[in-house]
Amino acid sequence: MKAIVVGGGIGGLATAVSLRRVGWEVVVYERAATFGEIGAGVGVMPNALRALEWMGLADEARRLGTPRVSGGVRASDGRWLMHLPDIGQEKVIAMHRADLHGVLLRALPPEILFNNVEVTGVDELDADLVVAADGINSRLRAELLPGAPGPVYAGATAWRGVAPGPYELPISQTLGPGGEAGILPLGDGRVCWYVAAVAPASADLDPVALFAGWHDPLPELLASTPDVIRHDIYELPLLPTFVRGRVALLGDAAHAMTPYLGQGACMALEDAVTLASVDGDLARYDALRRPRAQSVWKGSRMAGKFGIEVRSPMALALRNFAFRALPSSLAVHGMTRFSSWEVPGEVHSNGSNPLVN
Ligand SMILES: Cc1cc2nc3c(=O)[nH]c(=O)nc-3n(C[C@H](O)[C@H](O)[C@H](O)COP(=O)(O)OP(=O)(O)OC[C@H]3O[C@@H](n4cnc5c(N)ncnc54)[C@H](O)[C@@H]3O)c2cc1C
Repeated sequence: MKAIVVGGGIGGLATAVSLRRVGWEVVVYERAATFGEIGAGVGVMPNALRALEWMGLADEARRLGTPRVSGGVRASDGRWLMHLPDIGQEKVIAMHRADLHGVLLRALPPEILFNNVEVTGVDELDADLVVAADGINSRLRAELLPGAPGPVYAGATAWRGVAPGPYELPISQTLGPGGEAGILPLGDGRVCWYVAAVAPASADLDPVALFAGWHDPLPELLASTPDVIRHDIYELPLLPTFVRGRVALLGDAAHAMTPYLGQGACMALEDAVTLASVDGDLARYDALRRPRAQSVWKGSRMAGKFGIEVRSPMALALRNFAFRALPSSLAVHGMTRFSSWEVPGEVHSNGSNPLVN
């Protein structure tokens, strides 16, 4: 069986690795001149680590990334609102996005990877299975689901970068009025960070000025980073299906979500492994992936409502009080709700099998 994967981002490459693992012949078409990833950090959550384990790549990810145990949520003045113990038994691995992309890329033979190929329609693709992993603005999705709405501005803009450091910091998320920040330390002293602020799309804003009053070392991280990337945050309204004919939508092409749970790329890894574990059965893929990805999409939106979108002093005080009052067991439950996942077909620890039940 032959599959064509359109898009060589984290989702597309993970799909190629996974399908090859179950015996498919795969090629990947990428429109950019090179296979690569821009961006800063990615937190490989336990669910994503499980997907990498299935692909046989978790050890390599652990080697390149930094397992983080300590950390939590802070207010913009630096007060800790919540300390999080380990998420379940596994740790979040902090990685540079380029390293995660590289782990996947090196697992594929170069002769199946074609760059400078922009796919313009499904009909031109001769394969049993086509995987549209062509990102939030997916051209294939627009062709296959012409009535479905396109991406919608989520009301905030984000900046990301890697500060050279060296720093020794815990992993943290900071919630302030109309903004949030994340710190993801790499093992070598560098720190991946992101900040996001409620703002109109394309607003002319200087992140260094916006976050100047936030706790240390956030202002310094922003000011000392040579290359800062800006993304207006868009989300894709929920789709009625992830499949059409012989085509599967995957990753951001299927369910682009806000970044507030840090699960977008993790979901793409889950998609990839699921598609392979059901051996390209698209009805099963849709039945397994749509409820799961859309529930994380909703969770991410909710995290935004209680996070970045809180602005009035009264609401901020209430939200911060709620965080401080929350027992850590409940906080962990809130996180593991999204980061717990089993590969379909593998028997759960409770003995059930999601493919059978
Ligand atoms: C500010 C921000 C922070 C984030 N933080 C996190 C995080 O901490 N953790 C996390 O898990 N996720 C995070 N995400 C989400 C994550 O970045 C995405 O969900 C993930 O990268 C999607 O991967 P993908 O492969 O589906 O799409 P993409 O990475 O968009 O890849 C699509 C690829 O397809 C190619 N392509 C497009 N059209 C065509 C075509 N017609 N023909 C051929 N090739 C084509 C593109 O060039 C691209 O290489 C964040 C996102 C944002 C905006």
